[in-house]
Amino acid sequence: MKVLFTAAEAEPFYKVGGLGDYAGSLPVALKNYFTAQNDMLDIRVVLPLHDTKTIKKFQLKAVLAFSVEGTENKNKCRLFEKVYDGIHYYFIHQSSPELESGAVYGKDQYRTAYKFTLFSIAVLEMLQKIGWEPDIIHANDWHTALINHLVKSRADFTKFKPGTLLTIHNMPFMGYGSEAVFSEFGIKPIAVKEYPAWAQTLPLPMGIAATDQIVAVSPTYADELTTSYFAYGLEKYLLSHPEKLTGIINGIDYTKWDPTTDKEIDFQFSETHLQPRIRNKKALYKEIGFEFKPNEPLLVVISRLESQKGIDLILDALSETAHHNWKAVILGSGHHGYEYAFRALERILPNKLHAVLEYNPLFAKKLYAAGDMILMPSLYEPCGLSQMIAMRYGCVPIAHAVGGLKDSITTKPEPERAGFLFNTPNKKAFIQCLKRAIKKYSDKDLWHQIQTNGMKTDFSWSRSAAQYANIYQSLTPRK
Ligand code: ADP
Repeated sequence: MKVLFTAAEAEPFYKVGGLGDYAGSLPVALKNYFTAQNDMLDIRVVLPLHDTKTIKKFQLKAVLAFSVEGTENKNKCRLFEKVYDGIHYYFIHQSSPELESGAVYGKDQYRTAYKFTLFSIAVLEMLQKIGWEPDIIHANDWHTALINHLVKSRADFTKFKPGTLLTIHNMPFMGYGSEAVFSEFGIKPIAVKEYPAWAQTLPLPMGIAATDQIVAVSPTYADELTTSYFAYGLEKYLLSHPEKLTGIINGIDYTKWDPTTDKEIDFQFSETHLQPRIRNKKALYKEIGFEFKPNEPLLVVISRLESQKGIDLILDALSETAHHNWKAVILGSGHHGYEYAFRALERILPNKLHAVLEYNPLFAKKLYAAGDMILMPSLYEPCGLSQMIAMRYGCVPIAHAVGGLKDSITTKPEPERAGFLFNTPNKKAFIQCLKRAIKKYSDKDLWHQIQTNGMKTDFSWSRSAAQYANIYQSLTPRK
């Protein structure tokens, strides 16, 4: 089976958030799954070449140059390739300097829309140029959703008829700003009766309508996407096409996230040998100038600082429980208002709260390996990987029971089996939940049990890769 997998980011080349983890690990997991079944999967990944500087170390090989029709002069593309970890990667570089901001997602809506529109067209051009005909095209989120629409709508791209799959990681991001770009490239609006008018010219809704199968990144998110609160106007379509929509929870890369072998943390540990976690905590405290107290939990936040992540609730809860026994380390960047608020809180609570307002994967690992609780009161969370990584490292999640948080944090049979969930995303419920967790923390045996329950839970890709493989197989006979 031949699969073209495409996304805006994939580790180790580019990672901004969970999509980068996902696209960096699922193709490898799928390939391993097929091999274990004595089957062959030729899965190739195509990404935009967002910047030429940081990617230099990967020594990409130039393959060919081509141009894409549309606005004059802007559309010269170059194709590069690289085999990494057994996976064939393609990179499409768009040569216009004005489009090359270097960022995966630029701040300018029009330019970002232009980049991904051109990328989507270029992906199909590239397939023709290299003469490779995949059985399946697997797109992810709005950035690449247009590819699935183009495959179905453009006669020149349908000589081969790949099955199409679209995974939704974040519904509210639909590709706003693309309307203007589409008219430049002659991409016509669609007419889908269940859609509101505004959705007919946006890449995500266009991809959803055209694609053969839609996967939401957790079963609960798939259910949530049939409600207006989570589907932002597309619920009517999704409700009337239940056969197209399934939910598959993401996995994490167990070779990368393994506290027993992780060289990036100070002291390795396992569920039967948790003692080194305390040494990690002491090392972290030394680094940031905190005083260590044996029975005081360390709360951590490792997140984009955006309203989706419930950052307001975190700020409120930390302010209002400041008299309680805890310390907190915040790692994140994003909305300036939130960054400012954490700095202000740090000034008020200098011996209690430490904020690192940046994207720092190494520091993130230290926090997973030293933190006692990770705060994730997200308003919505399609899947969420941070809670899975945290549980794998013995850091217990305190989270809103929504989307993938609900699916991955087991609270049965006992209410806090592997973490603590609350049902309503408001300050009162979150603070109550946090206080409950802090109280339980003083019972060392119970806490140890909660940690080990999380650490033993299987968050690897194995089960989910099998589910994706089933979908690929169900789509192949269309050829
Ligand atoms: P999302 O994709 O919505 O940002 P996820 O929980 O799915 O959230 O994935 C977040 C990923 O990004 C995790 O791997 C997490 O460790 C990482 N991450 C988030 N913020 C930071 C940060 N400031 N520094 C380093 N890694 C981060």
